[in-house]
Amino acid sequence: MDLRIVNGLIVTDGNVTREATIYVDNGKIGKICDGLDRSIGVDEEIDAVGHIVFPGLVDPHVHFDDPGFTQREDFETGTKSAAAGGVTTVIDMPCTSIPPVINGENLDYKLSIIKEKAYVDFAFWGGITPGQVENGQYRKDLGDLKDRGIVGVKFYTISGMETYPRMPLPLMDAVFRQLKELNLVCAIHAEDYYIVDFYSSYLQKIGRNDPFSWYEGRAYEAEPAAIWSVMGITEKVGNKLHIVHLSSKEGLNVVRWAKEHGMDVTVETCPQYLLFTVDDLVKKGAVLKTAPPVRQDEDKAALWEGLSDGSIDFISTDHAAGIYPEEKTKESIWDNYAGIPGIQFSLSSILTYGYQMGRITLDDIQRLMSENAAKRYGLYPQKGSLEIGADADFAIVDINKEWTVTAHIMESKGKYSPLMGEKMKGKVVKTIVRGEVVYDDEKGVTGRRGYGEFIKNKL
Ligand SMILES: [Zn+2]
Repeated sequence: MDLRIVNGLIVTDGNVTREATIYVDNGKIGKICDGLDRSIGVDEEIDAVGHIVFPGLVDPHVHFDDPGFTQREDFETGTKSAAAGGVTTVIDMPCTSIPPVINGENLDYKLSIIKEKAYVDFAFWGGITPGQVENGQYRKDLGDLKDRGIVGVKFYTISGMETYPRMPLPLMDAVFRQLKELNLVCAIHAEDYYIVDFYSSYLQKIGRNDPFSWYEGRAYEAEPAAIWSVMGITEKVGNKLHIVHLSSKEGLNVVRWAKEHGMDVTVETCPQYLLFTVDDLVKKGAVLKTAPPVRQDEDKAALWEGLSDGSIDFISTDHAAGIYPEEKTKESIWDNYAGIPGIQFSLSSILTYGYQMGRITLDDIQRLMSENAAKRYGLYPQKGSLEIGADADFAIVDINKEWTVTAHIMESKGKYSPLMGEKMKGKVVKTIVRGEVVYDDEKGVTGRRGYGEFIKNKL
Protein backbone atom coordinates (compact mmCIF):
# COMPACT_ATOMS: atom_id res chain seq x y z
CA MET A 1 0.00 0.00 0.00
CA ASP A 2 1.04 3.61 -0.44
CA LEU A 3 0.90 4.91 3.08
CA ARG A 4 0.23 3.98 6.66
CA ILE A 5 -0.66 6.34 9.49
CA VAL A 6 0.48 4.79 12.75
CA ASN A 7 -0.34 5.46 16.42
CA GLY A 8 -3.18 7.84 15.61
CA LEU A 9 -6.30 8.07 17.76
CA ILE A 10 -9.65 7.44 16.10
CA VAL A 11 -12.71 8.82 17.86
CA THR A 12 -15.18 6.05 18.60
CA ASP A 13 -17.80 7.60 20.88
CA GLY A 14 -18.05 10.84 22.88
CA ASN A 15 -14.46 11.62 23.82
CA VAL A 16 -13.39 7.97 23.71
CA THR A 17 -10.66 7.11 21.23
CA ARG A 18 -8.79 4.01 20.15
CA GLU A 19 -5.30 3.75 18.75
CA ALA A 20 -5.23 2.41 15.23
CA THR A 21 -3.17 2.04 12.08
CA ILE A 22 -4.72 3.34 8.88
CA TYR A 23 -3.53 1.97 5.55
CA VAL A 24 -4.01 3.99 2.40
CA ASP A 25 -4.12 2.35 -0.99
CA ASN A 26 -4.40 4.36 -4.19
CA GLY A 27 -5.94 7.37 -2.44
CA LYS A 28 -8.54 5.29 -0.56
CA ILE A 29 -8.70 3.89 2.95
CA GLY A 30 -7.45 0.32 2.49
CA LYS A 31 -7.49 -1.05 6.01
CA ILE A 32 -7.81 0.07 9.62
CA CYS A 33 -6.47 -2.17 12.35
CA ASP A 34 -5.02 -2.25 15.85
CA GLY A 35 -1.22 -2.29 15.75
CA LEU A 36 0.73 -3.10 12.61
CA ASP A 37 -0.11 -5.63 9.96
CA ARG A 38 3.39 -6.89 9.12
CA SER A 39 2.12 -8.59 5.97
CA ILE A 40 1.41 -5.22 4.34
CA GLY A 41 4.31 -3.31 2.84
CA VAL A 42 4.09 0.47 2.51
CA ASP A 43 5.98 3.22 0.69
CA GLU A 44 5.51 5.86 3.34
CA GLU A 45 4.65 6.19 7.03
CA ILE A 46 3.22 9.03 9.09
CA ASP A 47 3.49 8.86 12.85
CA ALA A 48 0.39 10.42 14.43
CA VAL A 49 1.29 9.51 18.00
CA GLY A 50 -0.93 11.28 20.51
CA HIS A 51 -2.96 12.96 17.77
CA ILE A 52 -6.60 12.59 16.79
CA VAL A 53 -7.26 11.40 13.25
CA PHE A 54 -10.56 12.88 12.10
CA PRO A 55 -12.05 12.16 8.71
CA GLY A 56 -11.14 15.16 6.53
CA LEU A 57 -13.46 18.04 7.33
CA VAL A 58 -16.24 19.08 4.94
CA ASP A 59 -17.12 22.78 4.89
CA PRO A 60 -20.46 22.96 3.09
CA HIS A 61 -20.67 26.76 2.83
CA VAL A 62 -17.81 28.82 1.42
CA HIS A 63 -17.51 31.81 -0.89
CA PHE A 64 -14.23 31.51 -2.81
CA ASP A 65 -15.23 34.25 -5.28
CA ASP A 66 -13.72 32.65 -8.38
CA PRO A 67 -14.10 33.78 -11.15
CA GLY A 68 -15.20 37.37 -10.83
CA PHE A 69 -14.41 38.60 -7.33
CA THR A 70 -10.84 37.33 -7.10
CA GLN A 71 -9.57 40.56 -5.61
CA ARG A 72 -11.22 39.18 -2.43
CA GLU A 73 -10.37 35.48 -2.65
CA ASP A 74 -9.70 32.91 -5.33
CA PHE A 75 -9.81 29.15 -5.43
CA GLU A 76 -6.09 28.87 -4.78
CA THR A 77 -6.00 30.99 -1.62
CA GLY A 78 -9.38 29.69 -0.49
CA THR A 79 -8.43 26.03 -0.79
CA LYS A 80 -5.02 26.67 0.80
CA SER A 81 -6.87 28.14 3.78
CA ALA A 82 -9.06 25.05 3.80
CA ALA A 83 -6.01 22.76 3.77
CA ALA A 84 -4.48 24.67 6.70
CA GLY A 85 -7.74 24.22 8.59
CA GLY A 86 -8.06 20.46 8.11
CA VAL A 87 -10.81 20.88 5.51
CA THR A 88 -10.48 18.42 2.64
CA THR A 89 -13.76 19.18 0.83
CA VAL A 90 -15.41 22.57 0.37
CA ILE A 91 -18.79 23.31 -1.16
CA ASP A 92 -18.73 26.66 -2.92
CA MET A 93 -21.74 28.96 -3.14
CA PRO A 94 -23.21 29.87 -6.56
CA CYS A 95 -23.60 33.58 -6.02
CA THR A 96 -20.16 35.00 -5.34
CA SER A 97 -18.64 34.45 -8.76
CA ILE A 98 -19.25 36.05 -12.13
CA PRO A 99 -21.18 34.67 -13.85
CA PRO A 100 -23.15 33.06 -11.00
CA VAL A 101 -23.68 29.28 -11.22
CA ILE A 102 -27.27 29.46 -12.49
CA ASN A 103 -27.06 27.08 -15.45
CA GLY A 104 -24.96 24.26 -16.81
CA GLU A 105 -22.86 26.46 -19.03
CA ASN A 106 -21.87 28.75 -16.17
CA LEU A 107 -20.95 25.77 -14.02
CA ASP A 108 -18.75 24.34 -16.80
CA TYR A 109 -17.02 27.69 -17.16
CA LYS A 110 -16.42 28.01 -13.44
CA LEU A 111 -15.09 24.46 -13.26
CA SER A 112 -12.66 25.10 -16.12
CA ILE A 113 -11.18 28.03 -14.20
CA ILE A 114 -11.02 26.73 -10.68
CA LYS A 115 -9.94 23.15 -11.28
CA GLU A 116 -6.46 24.45 -12.12
CA LYS A 117 -6.28 26.14 -8.74
CA ALA A 118 -7.80 23.83 -6.12
CA TYR A 119 -5.60 22.32 -3.38
CA VAL A 120 -8.45 20.35 -1.80
CA ASP A 121 -11.57 18.68 -3.23
CA PHE A 122 -14.66 20.71 -3.92
CA ALA A 123 -18.34 20.52 -4.78
CA PHE A 124 -20.79 23.15 -6.01
CA TRP A 125 -24.02 24.78 -5.00
CA GLY A 126 -26.23 25.92 -7.85
CA GLY A 127 -28.51 28.93 -8.04
CA ILE A 128 -31.61 30.21 -9.82
CA THR A 129 -32.57 33.86 -10.25
CA PRO A 130 -36.13 35.28 -10.18
CA GLY A 131 -35.91 35.98 -13.92
CA GLN A 132 -35.40 32.28 -14.67
CA VAL A 133 -38.54 31.43 -12.70
CA GLU A 134 -40.58 34.10 -14.45
CA ASN A 135 -39.60 32.94 -17.95
CA GLY A 136 -39.76 29.23 -17.13
CA GLN A 137 -36.10 28.58 -17.93
CA TYR A 138 -35.44 27.30 -14.40
CA ARG A 139 -36.76 23.83 -15.26
CA LYS A 140 -34.12 23.14 -17.88
CA ASP A 141 -31.38 24.94 -15.97
CA LEU A 142 -32.04 23.01 -12.77
CA GLY A 143 -31.99 19.75 -14.70
CA ASP A 144 -28.67 20.66 -16.28
CA LEU A 145 -27.20 21.63 -12.92
CA LYS A 146 -28.44 18.41 -11.35
CA ASP A 147 -26.83 16.40 -14.16
CA ARG A 148 -23.54 18.09 -13.43
CA GLY A 149 -23.65 17.08 -9.76
CA ILE A 150 -24.56 20.16 -7.72
CA VAL A 151 -25.40 19.48 -4.06
CA GLY A 152 -28.45 21.76 -4.07
CA VAL A 153 -29.64 25.27 -4.74
CA LYS A 154 -29.14 28.37 -2.63
CA PHE A 155 -31.66 31.19 -2.27
CA TYR A 156 -31.55 34.44 -0.39
CA THR A 157 -34.63 35.92 1.24
CA ILE A 158 -32.55 39.10 1.30
CA SER A 159 -29.52 39.84 -0.85
CA GLY A 160 -26.93 42.57 -1.13
CA MET A 161 -25.64 41.20 -4.44
CA GLU A 162 -26.56 42.76 -7.77
CA THR A 163 -25.58 39.61 -9.69
CA TYR A 164 -27.69 37.33 -7.49
CA PRO A 165 -30.86 38.99 -6.23
CA ARG A 166 -33.19 37.65 -3.54
CA MET A 167 -35.85 35.10 -4.44
CA PRO A 168 -39.32 36.41 -3.57
CA LEU A 169 -41.38 33.88 -1.61
CA PRO A 170 -44.15 33.44 -4.21
CA LEU A 171 -41.54 32.32 -6.77
CA MET A 172 -40.05 29.73 -4.39
CA ASP A 173 -43.14 27.55 -4.64
CA ALA A 174 -42.49 26.58 -8.25
CA VAL A 175 -38.77 26.02 -7.70
CA PHE A 176 -39.32 23.96 -4.54
CA ARG A 177 -41.59 21.61 -6.54
CA GLN A 178 -38.91 21.13 -9.17
CA LEU A 179 -36.21 20.63 -6.53
CA LYS A 180 -38.34 17.97 -4.89
CA GLU A 181 -38.59 16.14 -8.19
CA LEU A 182 -34.82 16.36 -8.63
CA ASN A 183 -34.15 15.34 -4.99
CA LEU A 184 -32.04 18.45 -4.37
CA VAL A 185 -31.73 20.42 -1.14
CA CYS A 186 -32.75 24.07 -1.11
CA ALA A 187 -30.54 26.16 1.16
CA ILE A 188 -31.90 29.44 2.44
CA HIS A 189 -30.24 32.58 3.72
CA ALA A 190 -33.04 33.37 6.15
CA GLU A 191 -33.53 37.01 7.09
CA ASP A 192 -36.86 38.59 6.22
CA TYR A 193 -36.31 41.27 3.59
CA TYR A 194 -39.09 43.62 4.73
CA ILE A 195 -38.10 43.61 8.40
CA VAL A 196 -34.41 44.20 7.69
CA ASP A 197 -35.12 46.82 5.05
CA PHE A 198 -37.47 48.71 7.35
CA TYR A 199 -35.07 48.99 10.29
CA SER A 200 -31.88 49.40 8.27
CA SER A 201 -33.36 52.18 6.13
CA TYR A 202 -34.65 54.00 9.19
CA LEU A 203 -31.30 53.78 11.02
CA GLN A 204 -29.44 55.06 7.97
CA LYS A 205 -31.96 57.85 7.52
CA ILE A 206 -31.38 59.15 11.05
CA GLY A 207 -27.61 59.06 10.47
CA ARG A 208 -26.61 56.04 12.55
CA ASN A 209 -23.47 54.34 11.23
CA ASP A 210 -21.96 52.66 14.31
CA PRO A 211 -21.47 48.84 14.50
CA PHE A 212 -24.45 48.47 16.86
CA SER A 213 -26.76 49.91 14.21
CA TRP A 214 -25.85 46.99 11.90
CA TYR A 215 -27.05 44.64 14.65
CA GLU A 216 -30.25 46.64 15.19
CA GLY A 217 -30.99 46.92 11.48
CA ARG A 218 -30.69 43.16 10.89
CA ALA A 219 -33.47 42.80 13.47
CA TYR A 220 -33.62 39.63 15.54
CA GLU A 221 -37.11 38.57 14.42
CA ALA A 222 -36.06 38.71 10.77
CA GLU A 223 -34.43 35.28 11.09
CA PRO A 224 -37.27 33.25 12.67
CA ALA A 225 -39.77 35.11 10.45
CA ALA A 226 -37.94 34.11 7.27
CA ILE A 227 -37.54 30.51 8.41
CA TRP A 228 -41.28 30.29 9.16
CA SER A 229 -42.17 31.66 5.72
CA VAL A 230 -40.02 29.28 3.69
CA MET A 231 -41.06 26.39 5.89
CA GLY A 232 -44.66 27.15 5.07
CA ILE A 233 -43.89 26.32 1.44
CA THR A 234 -41.77 23.31 2.34
CA GLU A 235 -44.52 21.91 4.54
CA LYS A 236 -46.88 22.05 1.56
CA VAL A 237 -44.43 20.85 -1.10
CA GLY A 238 -42.38 18.36 0.93
CA ASN A 239 -38.97 19.34 -0.47
CA LYS A 240 -35.64 19.17 1.35
CA LEU A 241 -34.84 22.44 3.08
CA HIS A 242 -31.65 23.67 4.70
CA ILE A 243 -31.16 26.84 6.73
CA VAL A 244 -27.67 28.31 6.45
CA HIS A 245 -25.69 30.22 9.10
CA LEU A 246 -28.28 30.14 11.87
CA SER A 247 -27.62 32.90 14.41
CA SER A 248 -30.56 33.02 16.82
CA LYS A 249 -32.19 30.99 19.56
CA GLU A 250 -35.67 31.69 18.14
CA GLY A 251 -34.56 30.60 14.68
CA LEU A 252 -33.41 27.33 16.23
CA ASN A 253 -36.76 26.90 17.95
CA VAL A 254 -38.52 27.19 14.59
CA VAL A 255 -36.23 24.54 13.09
CA ARG A 256 -36.86 22.28 16.08
CA TRP A 257 -40.60 22.65 15.49
CA ALA A 258 -40.15 21.63 11.86
CA LYS A 259 -38.09 18.58 12.78
CA GLU A 260 -40.62 17.51 15.39
CA HIS A 261 -43.28 17.75 12.70
CA GLY A 262 -41.38 15.42 10.42
CA MET A 263 -40.21 17.95 7.86
CA ASP A 264 -36.98 17.29 5.99
CA VAL A 265 -35.21 20.36 7.36
CA THR A 266 -31.56 20.70 8.37
CA VAL A 267 -29.63 23.65 9.73
CA GLU A 268 -26.04 24.80 10.14
CA THR A 269 -24.37 27.44 12.26
CA CYS A 270 -20.91 29.01 12.07
CA PRO A 271 -18.08 29.70 14.55
CA GLN A 272 -18.83 33.45 14.59
CA TYR A 273 -22.30 32.84 16.06
CA LEU A 274 -20.90 30.42 18.64
CA LEU A 275 -17.97 32.56 19.78
CA PHE A 276 -19.09 36.17 19.62
CA THR A 277 -21.91 38.51 20.64
CA VAL A 278 -22.96 42.02 19.71
CA ASP A 279 -20.67 43.31 22.49
CA ASP A 280 -17.76 41.96 20.48
CA LEU A 281 -19.15 43.55 17.32
CA VAL A 282 -19.17 46.91 19.08
CA LYS A 283 -15.58 46.42 20.32
CA LYS A 284 -14.04 44.90 17.19
CA GLY A 285 -16.11 46.75 14.60
CA ALA A 286 -16.41 45.73 10.97
CA VAL A 287 -14.03 42.73 11.11
CA LEU A 288 -16.96 40.99 12.83
CA LYS A 289 -19.60 42.33 10.44
CA THR A 290 -21.61 39.44 9.00
CA ALA A 291 -25.15 38.87 7.77
CA PRO A 292 -26.94 37.79 9.86
CA PRO A 293 -25.10 39.58 12.66
CA VAL A 294 -23.74 37.97 15.82
CA ARG A 295 -26.36 38.05 18.60
CA GLN A 296 -26.54 37.75 22.40
CA ASP A 297 -25.15 35.38 25.04
CA GLU A 298 -28.42 33.45 25.24
CA ASP A 299 -28.34 32.84 21.50
CA LYS A 300 -24.77 31.57 21.70
CA ALA A 301 -25.72 29.24 24.53
CA ALA A 302 -28.76 27.96 22.61
CA LEU A 303 -26.63 27.25 19.52
CA TRP A 304 -24.08 25.23 21.52
CA GLU A 305 -26.95 23.30 23.04
CA GLY A 306 -28.40 22.72 19.57
CA LEU A 307 -25.08 21.31 18.37
CA SER A 308 -24.85 19.02 21.35
CA ASP A 309 -28.44 17.71 21.23
CA GLY A 310 -28.42 17.18 17.47
CA SER A 311 -30.97 19.82 16.51
CA ILE A 312 -28.23 21.68 14.59
CA ASP A 313 -26.92 19.37 11.91
CA PHE A 314 -23.55 20.80 11.03
CA ILE A 315 -21.02 23.61 11.28
CA SER A 316 -19.98 25.61 8.22
CA THR A 317 -17.87 28.76 8.06
CA ASP A 318 -19.62 30.93 5.47
CA HIS A 319 -16.01 31.82 4.60
CA ALA A 320 -16.15 35.18 2.79
CA ALA A 321 -13.12 37.44 2.61
CA GLY A 322 -13.39 41.18 2.13
CA ILE A 323 -10.44 43.15 0.80
CA TYR A 324 -8.45 44.09 3.87
CA PRO A 325 -8.12 46.74 5.10
CA GLU A 326 -10.07 48.67 2.41
CA GLU A 327 -13.42 46.89 2.72
CA LYS A 328 -13.33 46.33 6.47
CA THR A 329 -12.21 49.64 7.96
CA LYS A 330 -14.59 52.18 6.46
CA GLU A 331 -15.99 54.67 8.91
CA SER A 332 -19.64 53.78 8.41
CA ILE A 333 -20.56 50.20 9.34
CA TRP A 334 -23.01 50.15 6.40
CA ASP A 335 -20.16 50.64 3.88
CA ASN A 336 -18.07 47.72 5.11
CA TYR A 337 -18.10 44.27 3.55
CA ALA A 338 -20.07 41.62 5.44
CA GLY A 339 -18.04 38.44 5.83
CA ILE A 340 -15.18 36.68 7.57
CA PRO A 341 -12.53 34.39 6.02
CA GLY A 342 -12.92 31.72 8.71
CA ILE A 343 -12.10 28.34 7.23
CA GLN A 344 -8.53 28.11 8.50
CA PHE A 345 -9.54 28.64 12.13
CA SER A 346 -12.86 26.85 12.22
CA LEU A 347 -11.75 23.54 13.73
CA SER A 348 -9.45 25.27 16.24
CA SER A 349 -12.33 27.56 17.25
CA ILE A 350 -14.64 24.64 17.88
CA LEU A 351 -11.94 22.72 19.77
CA THR A 352 -11.04 25.74 21.91
CA TYR A 353 -14.51 27.05 22.70
CA GLY A 354 -16.49 23.81 22.33
CA TYR A 355 -14.50 20.71 23.20
CA GLN A 356 -12.07 22.28 25.69
CA MET A 357 -15.00 23.88 27.55
CA GLY A 358 -16.98 20.65 27.69
CA ARG A 359 -19.76 21.89 25.42
CA ILE A 360 -19.36 19.22 22.74
CA THR A 361 -17.41 16.00 22.32
CA LEU A 362 -14.82 14.94 19.77
CA ASP A 363 -17.42 12.63 18.29
CA ASP A 364 -19.83 15.59 17.92
CA ILE A 365 -17.07 17.48 16.09
CA GLN A 366 -16.50 14.57 13.74
CA ARG A 367 -20.17 14.47 12.82
CA LEU A 368 -20.81 18.24 12.79
CA MET A 369 -17.74 19.17 10.78
CA SER A 370 -17.46 16.22 8.42
CA GLU A 371 -19.95 13.37 8.34
CA ASN A 372 -23.33 15.09 8.52
CA ALA A 373 -22.82 17.57 5.70
CA ALA A 374 -21.31 14.84 3.49
CA LYS A 375 -24.44 12.76 4.10
CA ARG A 376 -26.88 15.60 3.47
CA TYR A 377 -25.25 16.56 0.19
CA GLY A 378 -24.62 13.14 -1.32
CA LEU A 379 -20.85 13.03 -0.84
CA TYR A 380 -20.91 10.23 1.75
CA PRO A 381 -19.24 7.76 2.26
CA GLN A 382 -16.62 8.92 -0.26
CA LYS A 383 -16.23 11.99 1.98
CA GLY A 384 -16.92 12.43 5.69
CA SER A 385 -16.12 8.87 6.68
CA LEU A 386 -13.36 6.53 7.81
CA GLU A 387 -14.92 3.52 6.12
CA ILE A 388 -12.81 1.14 4.05
CA GLY A 389 -12.95 2.36 0.45
CA ALA A 390 -13.64 5.98 1.39
CA ASP A 391 -11.30 8.68 0.12
CA ALA A 392 -8.21 8.80 2.34
CA ASP A 393 -8.96 12.31 3.62
CA PHE A 394 -7.80 13.09 7.15
CA ALA A 395 -7.33 15.96 9.54
CA ILE A 396 -4.64 14.92 12.01
CA VAL A 397 -5.05 17.12 15.05
CA ASP A 398 -3.10 17.90 18.20
CA ILE A 399 -5.95 18.82 20.55
CA ASN A 400 -3.54 20.14 23.20
CA LYS A 401 -1.38 22.41 21.07
CA GLU A 402 -1.59 26.03 22.19
CA TRP A 403 -1.04 28.78 19.67
CA THR A 404 -2.03 32.36 18.87
CA VAL A 405 -3.94 33.68 15.86
CA THR A 406 -1.83 36.07 13.76
CA ALA A 407 -2.32 37.61 10.33
CA HIS A 408 0.87 36.23 8.79
CA ILE A 409 -0.21 32.59 9.13
CA MET A 410 -3.41 33.24 7.19
CA GLU A 411 -3.57 31.69 3.73
CA SER A 412 -6.66 33.71 2.76
CA LYS A 413 -6.26 36.94 0.80
CA GLY A 414 -8.26 38.65 3.54
CA LYS A 415 -5.77 38.82 6.42
CA TYR A 416 -8.21 39.65 9.21
CA SER A 417 -10.14 37.71 11.79
CA PRO A 418 -12.25 38.51 14.85
CA LEU A 419 -9.95 35.96 16.54
CA MET A 420 -6.79 37.99 15.89
CA GLY A 421 -4.46 37.74 18.89
CA GLU A 422 -6.59 35.07 20.59
CA LYS A 423 -4.96 32.08 22.25
CA MET A 424 -6.26 28.81 20.87
CA LYS A 425 -5.95 25.22 22.05
CA GLY A 426 -6.02 22.57 19.34
CA LYS A 427 -4.42 22.70 15.91
CA VAL A 428 -4.27 20.75 12.69
CA VAL A 429 -0.91 18.98 12.39
CA LYS A 430 -1.45 17.47 8.95
CA THR A 431 -4.20 17.54 6.36
CA ILE A 432 -4.36 14.65 3.91
CA VAL A 433 -6.45 14.56 0.73
CA ARG A 434 -6.76 11.21 -1.06
CA GLY A 435 -3.54 10.01 0.56
CA GLU A 436 -1.47 13.15 -0.19
CA VAL A 437 -0.32 15.49 2.58
CA VAL A 438 -1.61 18.92 1.51
CA TYR A 439 -0.79 20.73 4.75
CA ASP A 440 1.88 20.19 7.38
CA ASP A 441 1.98 22.38 10.46
CA GLU A 442 5.78 22.68 10.25
CA LYS A 443 6.06 23.23 6.50
CA GLY A 444 2.82 25.03 5.66
CA VAL A 445 0.78 24.13 2.59
CA THR A 446 2.54 21.22 0.88
CA GLY A 447 -0.18 20.34 -1.62
CA ARG A 448 -0.28 21.02 -5.30
CA ARG A 449 -2.27 23.61 -7.22
CA GLY A 450 -4.83 21.78 -9.34
CA TYR A 451 -4.75 18.61 -7.21
CA GLY A 452 -8.27 19.20 -5.87
CA GLU A 453 -11.04 17.28 -7.63
CA PHE A 454 -14.67 18.06 -8.35
CA ILE A 455 -16.88 15.81 -6.23
CA LYS A 456 -20.45 15.20 -7.38
CA ASN A 457 -23.60 14.76 -5.36
CA LYS A 458 -24.57 11.09 -5.63
CA LEU A 459 -28.12 11.39 -4.30
ZN1 LIG B 1 -22.82 32.61 2.69
